[in-house]
Amino acid sequence: MITFVGAGPGAEDLITVRGQRLLQEADIIVYAGSLVNPGLLSMAGADCEIYNSAKMTLEEVMDVMTAGERAGKKVVRLHTGDPCLYGAIREQMDALEKADISYEVCPGVSSFCGAAAALGAEYTLPGVSQSVVITRMAGRTPVPERESIQSFAAHQATMVIFLSTGMLKELSAELISGGYEKETPAAIVYKATWPEEKVLRCTVGTLAETAAAENVTKTALIVVGRILEGEYDRSKLYDPSFTTEFRKGSDTAGQKTE
Ligand code: SAH
Repeated sequence: MITFVGAGPGAEDLITVRGQRLLQEADIIVYAGSLVNPGLLSMAGADCEIYNSAKMTLEEVMDVMTAGERAGKKVVRLHTGDPCLYGAIREQMDALEKADISYEVCPGVSSFCGAAAALGAEYTLPGVSQSVVITRMAGRTPVPERESIQSFAAHQATMVIFLSTGMLKELSAELISGGYEKETPAAIVYKATWPEEKVLRCTVGTLAETAAAENVTKTALIVVGRILEGEYDRSKLYDPSFTTEFRKGSDTAGQKTE
């Protein structure tokens, strides 16, 4: 059995209990060395074989994993955050299916959750935004044109932008041309939950200069939206007048919400 495991955003104790057990029991770990906290590897047993996929091709990763599985070993493929975002797991899963090898996924805490925690932010505030757009600037990996930053900016929903710290001037320009005021609150969260975490609050118009002043060039998320400061509506769920499945409110109209 091969398990894709989410390592969490950085802090060693933000892996799930299941993920930790899988690391402890693994015979082989292939970890994404560019971002996974190497401290997590000390959870592995003394005989565990450990490979850093940052130095390997997809074919080399597949060779290690399939050979291990065929030898009856427990193989963990350790990805940063949660493997479902920018994890390149689909191509690995497809290759495993072709080789008739079964696999499972153990989710992890994504860095966009770690960034919210660092900011003390709620991405979905009533009356402000009820949606989160997770996206990236096009870089060496293209982004479909219909998913341009401008087109998402037009929604004025909360945005969390991955993999774009090297393109902040361009990002600002796209956000502004898409409809965000340049004074819209923004934040750069560098290495969320790592000991060296930095939380830089700024505006859509000052992203590039803010990152430059702190020498932040990679491993950061950009959060954009009016959820970062200002007014919002109180939640209905905890409003005394509001009736829910679990609590009768003073308003006898009997509304229900999830
Ligand atoms: N699967 C991962 C994302 C991998 S893509 C997840 O769920 O978080 C790599 C990008 O994620 C980085 O370029 C950066 O934009 C972001 N990232 C990963 N870890 C981060 C962290 N601890 N703090 C801020 N951004 C992080």
